[in-house]
Amino acid sequence: MRYDYSFEDIEPYVIPRPNGELYYKCLGCSAEYSIEKLLYVCPECNQVLLLHDRNADHLKKISGQTWQKIFDFRKMLKIPALKGIYRYHEFIGSCIPLDSIVYLGEGHTPVVEASDHLKEKTDANFYFKNDGQNPSASFKDRGMASAVSSIKYLVDQNLVSDVIAVCASTGDTSAAAALYASYLDPMIKSAVLLPHKKVTSQQLSQPLGSGARVFEIPGVFDDCMKVVETLSSSYPVVLLNSKNAWRILGQESFSYEIAQDFDWDMADKVVVVPIGNAGNISAVMNGFIKFYEAGIINRLPKIIGVQSEHADPVYRYYLEPDENKRVFKPVDTQPSVAQAAMIGNPVSMPRVIEIAQKYNRLMEKEQVFFVRVTEQAIMDWQLTANAAGHIACTQGGECLAGLVAARENKIVSKNETAILDATAHAIKFSEFQDLYFNSTISESYKVVSNPEKINLPTLILPDTPNLMPSQKNRLAPADLKKFVNEISDKIANQLGLNVFS
Ligand SMILES: *Cc1c(COP(=O)(O)O)cnc(C)c1O
Ligand SMILES: [Zn+2]
Repeated sequence: MRYDYSFEDIEPYVIPRPNGELYYKCLGCSAEYSIEKLLYVCPECNQVLLLHDRNADHLKKISGQTWQKIFDFRKMLKIPALKGIYRYHEFIGSCIPLDSIVYLGEGHTPVVEASDHLKEKTDANFYFKNDGQNPSASFKDRGMASAVSSIKYLVDQNLVSDVIAVCASTGDTSAAAALYASYLDPMIKSAVLLPHKKVTSQQLSQPLGSGARVFEIPGVFDDCMKVVETLSSSYPVVLLNSKNAWRILGQESFSYEIAQDFDWDMADKVVVVPIGNAGNISAVMNGFIKFYEAGIINRLPKIIGVQSEHADPVYRYYLEPDENKRVFKPVDTQPSVAQAAMIGNPVSMPRVIEIAQKYNRLMEKEQVFFVRVTEQAIMDWQLTANAAGHIACTQGGECLAGLVAARENKIVSKNETAILDATAHAIKFSEFQDLYFNSTISESYKVVSNPEKINLPTLILPDTPNLMPSQKNRLAPADLKKFVNEISDKIANQLGLNVFS
């Protein structure tokens, strides 16, 4: 932000007014529907929906530079409703009054530059945007803040009541849904469906701790999704999966933040996202398009979607270069360390297809790319990044593996700067790190532990067994001194240290 700003010209716009007119539009038949009904797919053709704003032309009456000033100014405000994704209110949920906004600390996650050492290793210039620093430790909080604020808005207007929110999840959606719903308890109760033994124990503990009803189902995520779809079409429940168009809308904030973080300059920028259900990449592209159309950024950054060899339906779709010959085929997934992206039949595929086409068209060249990486590369790059000061989850590792592959394929040049979505916190997926370090990853993942990357604790014991302190048996002062000296010498020896001379 520059210091010579005068803020008089933006004063009328600083506090947003809820004057947007949002509606759902079907990606299949283009039918339009009111947002006053809870809707996830088109009642006519069953396709997914996106939210649009009838008042969007209004946004163009304010210049791109003025919008930049407005957002920079809002950054300094102390109004909770504007501290998260709704800093970009006019672009993210322009019909929602500030007092219906639910803010739990989401968004505005740090953008951390790779060290010189890591840049050298990857032969690439990049940053991680740490979306694991969201309240439930993944980017899903962005979409959930949006979806749950939209429910609160409907409740506040007496349009719905006694909400039971449900979702199927590879782990992080349920953690976010349960967290945001619990904040509005008893207005909203939540139930989450997880594939049995296919989420990490941290991800299972999150919705349990938030007080949600948690159901585990045999099979994989795609099976859970089928159950939730049946539930939502037969019973009065609110669907919090990424079928819910409000989720996509909220996740667009990721792009707005990147634009602001890099001072609205998108020249030579590349944004790398892992793909599971494809909601996130749809949102990321859509967000940049909206800012571009409003003149807030003057070009669209390159987008790279990354998939694992073990769950690659989107990558396969785009292998066919001729747009008219592409056919989408779901795949059966194989075990993936990028478990949150282990999806064979992505719900948002129609969104990706439509938005990527528009994205390329706007730049009059191929600007959206898809790359595929091995499970081995995902694990190795995740561990390499985290051993260089990052906190990337396995999906963040997938992004870095994707960037390295994109450098090798010449999709990205050395002059470009990539921003990688570290979609969750490393801690959520530490089970995979443990398996790798203990060389116990099941063969089906096709990951072999590289001895150079393994890191395990070293137990240091005294040579004299009776010099062993414990909680119950405290050592006498003289013995304790002996113990401390002995252990210190051993550690110094391990570290190759020499005594002061
Ligand atoms: C949900 C999720 C993904 C995949 O995002 P989609 O929107 O489903 O493509 C990637 N990483 C993490 C950590 C996730 O929770
Ligand atoms: Zn339709």
